[in-house]
Amino acid sequence: MDLLSIDSLSDSQIATILDRAQHFFADNRAGRSRKALAGRILFNLFYENSTRTLMSFATAAHRLGASVVTLPVEQSSVKKGETLADTARTLNAMRPDVLVIRNRENGSAEAVAAIMDAPVINAGDGTNEHPTQALLDAATLQQRLGSLDGVKVAICGDIRHSRVARSNAKLLPRLGAEVQLAGPPELMPNDAPTTTVDDAIAGADVVMMLRVQRERLDSDFGDAPGEYLELYGLTAKRLASAAPEVMVMHPGPMNRGVEIDGTIADEPQRSLITLQVEMSVATRMACLEFVTGIKN
Ligand code: ASP
Repeated sequence: MDLLSIDSLSDSQIATILDRAQHFFADNRAGRSRKALAGRILFNLFYENSTRTLMSFATAAHRLGASVVTLPVEQSSVKKGETLADTARTLNAMRPDVLVIRNRENGSAEAVAAIMDAPVINAGDGTNEHPTQALLDAATLQQRLGSLDGVKVAICGDIRHSRVARSNAKLLPRLGAEVQLAGPPELMPNDAPTTTVDDAIAGADVVMMLRVQRERLDSDFGDAPGEYLELYGLTAKRLASAAPEVMVMHPGPMNRGVEIDGTIADEPQRSLITLQVEMSVATRMACLEFVTGIKN
Protein backbone atom coordinates (compact mmCIF):
# COMPACT_ATOMS: atom_id res chain seq x y z
CA MET A 1 0.00 0.00 0.00
CA ASP A 2 1.36 3.44 -0.93
CA LEU A 3 1.12 6.55 1.23
CA LEU A 4 0.90 9.42 -1.24
CA SER A 5 -1.63 11.91 0.10
CA ILE A 6 -3.98 12.56 2.98
CA ASP A 7 -7.03 12.07 0.77
CA SER A 8 -5.90 8.54 -0.07
CA LEU A 9 -6.23 7.55 3.62
CA SER A 10 -9.51 6.51 5.20
CA ASP A 11 -10.46 7.80 8.64
CA SER A 12 -9.76 4.42 10.17
CA GLN A 13 -6.33 4.19 8.48
CA ILE A 14 -5.48 7.64 9.85
CA ALA A 15 -6.65 6.59 13.32
CA THR A 16 -4.51 3.45 13.17
CA ILE A 17 -1.36 5.31 12.07
CA LEU A 18 -1.82 7.94 14.78
CA ASP A 19 -2.50 5.34 17.41
CA ARG A 20 0.59 3.33 16.46
CA ALA A 21 2.64 6.55 16.43
CA GLN A 22 1.86 7.08 20.14
CA HIS A 23 2.75 3.48 20.78
CA PHE A 24 6.14 3.76 19.02
CA PHE A 25 6.76 7.11 20.72
CA ALA A 26 6.52 5.41 24.12
CA ASP A 27 8.68 2.52 22.88
CA ASN A 28 11.37 4.85 21.61
CA ARG A 29 11.42 6.76 24.89
CA ALA A 30 11.81 3.45 26.70
CA GLY A 31 14.75 2.63 24.42
CA ARG A 32 13.04 -0.37 22.81
CA SER A 33 13.71 -1.35 19.20
CA ARG A 34 11.77 -3.82 17.10
CA LYS A 35 12.66 -6.41 14.51
CA ALA A 36 9.53 -6.64 12.34
CA LEU A 37 11.30 -5.26 9.27
CA ALA A 38 14.54 -7.21 9.75
CA GLY A 39 15.97 -8.19 6.37
CA ARG A 40 13.88 -5.54 4.56
CA ILE A 41 15.40 -2.62 2.67
CA LEU A 42 14.15 0.95 2.48
CA PHE A 43 15.34 3.21 -0.35
CA ASN A 44 15.53 6.96 0.25
CA LEU A 45 15.30 8.97 -2.97
CA PHE A 46 15.53 12.66 -2.08
CA TYR A 47 15.87 15.16 -4.93
CA GLU A 48 15.32 18.10 -2.55
CA ASN A 49 17.24 18.96 0.59
CA SER A 50 16.15 17.44 3.85
CA THR A 51 17.40 16.99 7.39
CA ARG A 52 14.38 15.98 9.46
CA THR A 53 12.46 13.89 6.95
CA LEU A 54 15.46 12.01 5.54
CA MET A 55 16.97 11.26 8.93
CA SER A 56 13.71 10.35 10.61
CA PHE A 57 12.73 7.89 7.87
CA ALA A 58 16.16 6.27 8.18
CA THR A 59 15.93 6.18 11.97
CA ALA A 60 12.38 4.82 11.85
CA ALA A 61 13.44 2.06 9.47
CA HIS A 62 16.43 1.11 11.64
CA ARG A 63 14.28 1.08 14.77
CA LEU A 64 12.08 -1.50 13.03
CA GLY A 65 15.08 -3.58 12.03
CA ALA A 66 15.21 -2.58 8.32
CA SER A 67 18.29 -1.46 6.39
CA VAL A 68 18.37 1.87 4.59
CA VAL A 69 19.99 2.73 1.28
CA THR A 70 20.04 6.41 0.32
CA LEU A 71 20.72 7.45 -3.26
CA PRO A 72 23.21 10.33 -3.23
CA VAL A 73 21.26 12.20 -5.91
CA GLU A 74 24.01 14.77 -6.49
CA GLN A 75 26.44 11.99 -7.50
CA SER A 76 23.89 9.85 -9.31
CA SER A 77 22.93 9.42 -12.96
CA VAL A 78 20.20 12.01 -12.34
CA LYS A 79 23.04 14.49 -12.92
CA LYS A 80 23.67 12.84 -16.30
CA GLY A 81 20.09 13.59 -17.28
CA GLU A 82 18.37 10.33 -16.36
CA THR A 83 14.63 10.79 -16.09
CA LEU A 84 12.70 10.17 -12.88
CA ALA A 85 10.85 7.28 -14.56
CA ASP A 86 14.10 5.61 -15.64
CA THR A 87 15.57 6.07 -12.17
CA ALA A 88 12.42 4.50 -10.71
CA ARG A 89 12.63 1.55 -13.11
CA THR A 90 16.28 1.06 -12.18
CA LEU A 91 15.58 1.16 -8.44
CA ASN A 92 12.58 -1.12 -8.86
CA ALA A 93 14.81 -3.77 -10.45
CA MET A 94 16.81 -3.86 -7.19
CA ARG A 95 13.65 -4.92 -5.37
CA PRO A 96 13.54 -2.65 -2.33
CA ASP A 97 10.75 -3.23 0.19
CA VAL A 98 9.79 0.46 0.52
CA LEU A 99 10.73 3.59 -1.41
CA VAL A 100 10.54 7.07 0.12
CA ILE A 101 10.65 9.90 -2.38
CA ARG A 102 10.94 13.68 -2.25
CA ASN A 103 10.93 15.57 -5.53
CA ARG A 104 10.24 19.13 -6.65
CA GLU A 105 7.49 18.16 -9.14
CA ASN A 106 3.89 17.95 -7.99
CA GLY A 107 2.59 14.44 -8.67
CA SER A 108 6.08 12.88 -8.80
CA ALA A 109 5.44 10.44 -5.94
CA GLU A 110 2.32 9.17 -7.67
CA ALA A 111 4.20 8.76 -10.96
CA VAL A 112 6.95 6.77 -9.26
CA ALA A 113 4.41 4.66 -7.37
CA ALA A 114 2.90 3.63 -10.71
CA ILE A 115 6.29 2.15 -11.65
CA MET A 116 7.43 0.63 -8.36
CA ASP A 117 6.26 -2.77 -7.14
CA ALA A 118 7.16 -1.82 -3.55
CA PRO A 119 5.08 0.62 -1.50
CA VAL A 120 5.98 4.27 -2.07
CA ILE A 121 5.81 7.01 0.55
CA ASN A 122 5.52 10.63 -0.52
CA ALA A 123 8.03 12.66 1.51
CA GLY A 124 7.04 15.88 -0.28
CA ASP A 125 6.14 16.44 -3.93
CA GLY A 126 6.68 20.04 -4.94
CA THR A 127 4.03 22.29 -3.45
CA ASN A 128 1.45 19.50 -3.39
CA GLU A 129 1.58 17.25 -0.31
CA HIS A 130 3.74 16.09 2.56
CA PRO A 131 1.35 13.63 4.20
CA THR A 132 3.72 12.15 6.78
CA GLN A 133 4.50 15.66 8.08
CA ALA A 134 0.79 16.30 8.66
CA LEU A 135 0.46 12.92 10.38
CA LEU A 136 3.36 13.66 12.70
CA ASP A 137 1.97 17.13 13.43
CA ALA A 138 -1.37 15.59 14.37
CA ALA A 139 0.38 12.96 16.50
CA THR A 140 2.36 15.70 18.26
CA LEU A 141 -0.82 17.60 19.10
CA GLN A 142 -2.56 14.44 20.26
CA GLN A 143 0.42 13.73 22.50
CA ARG A 144 -0.16 17.07 24.22
CA LEU A 145 -3.93 17.40 24.00
CA GLY A 146 -5.39 13.94 23.59
CA SER A 147 -8.07 15.08 21.16
CA LEU A 148 -8.01 17.73 18.44
CA ASP A 149 -11.73 18.29 18.65
CA GLY A 150 -12.50 22.02 18.48
CA VAL A 151 -8.82 22.99 18.60
CA LYS A 152 -8.14 26.23 16.71
CA VAL A 153 -5.04 25.96 14.53
CA ALA A 154 -3.56 28.97 12.72
CA ILE A 155 -1.17 27.97 9.91
CA CYS A 156 0.76 31.08 8.93
CA GLY A 157 3.35 32.10 6.38
CA ASP A 158 4.16 30.95 2.86
CA ILE A 159 0.96 29.00 2.28
CA ARG A 160 1.25 29.18 -1.50
CA HIS A 161 4.34 26.99 -1.63
CA SER A 162 3.70 24.85 1.43
CA ARG A 163 2.95 21.16 0.99
CA VAL A 164 2.92 21.03 4.81
CA ALA A 165 0.04 23.51 4.93
CA ARG A 166 -1.81 21.65 2.18
CA SER A 167 -1.57 18.28 3.92
CA ASN A 168 -2.40 19.71 7.34
CA ALA A 169 -5.38 21.65 5.97
CA LYS A 170 -6.74 18.29 4.78
CA LEU A 171 -5.88 16.20 7.82
CA LEU A 172 -6.50 18.36 10.89
CA PRO A 173 -10.17 19.19 10.13
CA ARG A 174 -10.83 15.46 9.72
CA LEU A 175 -9.69 15.11 13.33
CA GLY A 176 -12.01 17.87 14.51
CA ALA A 177 -9.65 20.88 14.44
CA GLU A 178 -10.58 24.29 13.01
CA VAL A 179 -7.82 25.40 10.65
CA GLN A 180 -7.18 28.95 9.46
CA LEU A 181 -4.58 29.70 6.81
CA ALA A 182 -2.99 33.15 6.73
CA GLY A 183 0.01 34.84 5.22
CA PRO A 184 1.25 37.72 3.13
CA PRO A 185 -1.12 38.18 0.16
CA GLU A 186 1.84 37.47 -2.19
CA LEU A 187 2.29 34.05 -0.55
CA MET A 188 -1.35 32.95 -0.41
CA PRO A 189 -2.92 30.66 -3.03
CA ASN A 190 -5.20 32.59 -5.37
CA ASP A 191 -8.33 30.80 -4.19
CA ALA A 192 -7.63 31.07 -0.43
CA PRO A 193 -9.83 33.22 1.82
CA THR A 194 -7.95 36.32 2.93
CA THR A 195 -7.29 36.29 6.65
CA THR A 196 -4.54 38.39 8.15
CA VAL A 197 -1.85 36.73 10.25
CA ASP A 198 -2.99 38.87 13.20
CA ASP A 199 -6.57 37.65 12.89
CA ALA A 200 -5.57 34.01 12.49
CA ILE A 201 -3.32 34.05 15.56
CA ALA A 202 -5.79 35.89 17.81
CA GLY A 203 -7.41 33.24 20.01
CA ALA A 204 -5.58 30.33 18.36
CA ASP A 205 -4.75 27.25 20.44
CA VAL A 206 -1.98 26.26 18.05
CA VAL A 207 0.15 28.47 15.82
CA MET A 208 2.06 26.66 13.08
CA MET A 209 4.59 28.91 11.35
CA LEU A 210 5.96 28.19 7.87
CA ARG A 211 9.20 29.10 6.18
CA VAL A 212 9.31 31.44 3.20
CA GLN A 213 10.31 28.95 0.49
CA ARG A 214 12.86 31.07 -1.32
CA GLU A 215 13.84 28.15 -3.55
CA ARG A 216 10.36 28.34 -5.11
CA LEU A 217 10.25 32.15 -5.39
CA ASP A 218 11.57 34.29 -8.24
CA SER A 219 11.45 37.51 -6.24
CA ASP A 220 13.40 38.68 -3.20
CA PHE A 221 10.19 38.76 -1.16
CA GLY A 222 10.88 38.64 2.56
CA ASP A 223 14.57 39.44 2.22
CA ALA A 224 14.58 42.87 3.88
CA PRO A 225 15.98 42.31 7.40
CA GLY A 226 13.33 42.40 10.11
CA GLU A 227 10.50 43.40 7.79
CA TYR A 228 8.86 40.00 7.38
CA LEU A 229 8.95 39.29 11.13
CA GLU A 230 7.41 42.67 11.84
CA LEU A 231 4.62 42.32 9.28
CA TYR A 232 3.85 38.60 9.27
CA GLY A 233 6.06 36.70 11.68
CA LEU A 234 5.46 35.19 15.09
CA THR A 235 6.49 37.86 17.59
CA ALA A 236 5.84 37.99 21.34
CA LYS A 237 3.18 40.62 20.66
CA ARG A 238 1.26 38.47 18.21
CA LEU A 239 1.60 35.40 20.40
CA ALA A 240 0.13 37.33 23.33
CA SER A 241 -3.17 37.57 21.42
CA ALA A 242 -3.44 33.76 21.11
CA ALA A 243 -5.09 31.45 23.65
CA PRO A 244 -3.32 31.45 27.05
CA GLU A 245 -2.10 27.85 26.63
CA VAL A 246 -1.06 28.33 23.01
CA MET A 247 1.34 25.84 21.43
CA VAL A 248 3.81 26.80 18.72
CA MET A 249 4.79 24.51 15.85
CA HIS A 250 7.12 24.70 12.86
CA PRO A 251 7.95 21.89 10.43
CA GLY A 252 11.50 23.17 10.01
CA PRO A 253 13.86 24.32 8.79
CA MET A 254 13.26 27.60 10.62
CA ASN A 255 14.38 30.98 9.49
CA ARG A 256 14.90 32.53 12.91
CA GLY A 257 14.09 36.21 12.94
CA VAL A 258 12.07 35.89 9.72
CA GLU A 259 8.86 33.89 10.23
CA ILE A 260 9.52 33.27 13.92
CA ASP A 261 11.27 35.08 16.76
CA GLY A 262 14.01 32.65 17.86
CA THR A 263 13.17 33.14 21.54
CA ILE A 264 9.66 31.81 20.97
CA ALA A 265 11.00 28.81 19.05
CA ASP A 266 13.18 27.93 22.05
CA GLU A 267 10.50 28.24 24.73
CA PRO A 268 10.43 24.87 26.48
CA GLN A 269 6.72 24.90 27.36
CA ARG A 270 4.95 26.51 24.45
CA SER A 271 7.17 25.41 21.59
CA LEU A 272 6.48 21.88 20.29
CA ILE A 273 9.17 22.08 17.61
CA THR A 274 11.52 19.53 19.21
CA LEU A 275 8.60 17.29 20.13
CA GLN A 276 7.56 17.35 16.46
CA VAL A 277 10.98 15.99 15.52
CA GLU A 278 10.84 13.27 18.16
CA MET A 279 7.34 12.35 17.04
CA SER A 280 8.49 12.25 13.42
CA VAL A 281 10.43 9.04 14.06
CA ALA A 282 7.51 7.35 15.82
CA THR A 283 5.02 8.46 13.18
CA ARG A 284 7.23 7.28 10.34
CA MET A 285 7.60 3.91 12.08
CA ALA A 286 3.80 3.75 12.06
CA CYS A 287 3.79 4.73 8.37
CA LEU A 288 6.31 2.00 7.53
CA GLU A 289 4.18 -0.53 9.38
CA PHE A 290 1.14 0.73 7.45
CA VAL A 291 2.65 0.57 3.96
CA THR A 292 4.39 -2.78 4.43
CA GLY A 293 1.49 -4.36 6.29
CA ILE A 294 4.09 -6.00 8.55
CA LYS A 295 3.02 -5.47 12.09
CA ASN A 296 5.23 -5.59 15.15
N1 ASP B 1 10.54 20.68 5.55
C1 ASP B 1 9.25 21.06 5.02
C2 ASP B 1 9.10 20.61 3.58
O1 ASP B 1 9.98 19.96 3.05
C3 ASP B 1 8.98 22.52 5.18
C4 ASP B 1 9.98 23.45 4.54
O2 ASP B 1 10.87 23.03 3.82
O3 ASP B 1 9.83 24.66 4.76
O4 ASP B 1 8.09 20.89 2.99
